[in-house]
Amino acid sequence: MQHPNKDRLIEFYYSEANDLEAKRVFKHLQSCNDCLEYLNTLDHITGQLDHFVNQTPSEDTFDLIMKDIEVVPLKNTYKKELFSVLPFIRIVIFILFVLAALHFCQGWLTILPLWEVIREYRIIQVLGSYGLVAVVFFIFGSFVTLSITPVLLMDSERLKNMIRQVCNYGETK
Ligand SMILES: [Zn+2]
Repeated sequence: MQHPNKDRLIEFYYSEANDLEAKRVFKHLQSCNDCLEYLNTLDHITGQLDHFVNQTPSEDTFDLIMKDIEVVPLKNTYKKELFSVLPFIRIVIFILFVLAALHFCQGWLTILPLWEVIREYRIIQVLGSYGLVAVVFFIFGSFVTLSITPVLLMDSERLKNMIRQVCNYGETK
């Protein structure tokens, strides 16, 4: 059995449905206990709410609530240390890693038969095997960076939008 949408039931309850819709819901209710039960519950809750008297909160409501909330000082995780060696260690490790990769790749390059052919070229003689591998690394690195930059930019846009939405939500609340 196809139940009417909850909005239709609520419209029916508050007599806001049009005639056709009201007839349809009424007919459905005659044979559906679930929907009838739903409306009974709604009626019960509405009845309860009617017992509440509208009250204006007292002036110090906010203070009373805040009094019960424990204020935990925010940990200042963003505090920057004046001087940190960690970035330098990272840079050194990264440079060592790149040099090791260069060494590994040029060793691999010089045993290729291709190397015997290309080493005759003037440009290769100037660059040497290390230079050639470094140039290849540089081109490859630029390519990868250019490829992922749009993704990173898009991601930061999405992040900014999310933050904006959360802020707006806080303001309108
Ligand atoms: Zn139903």
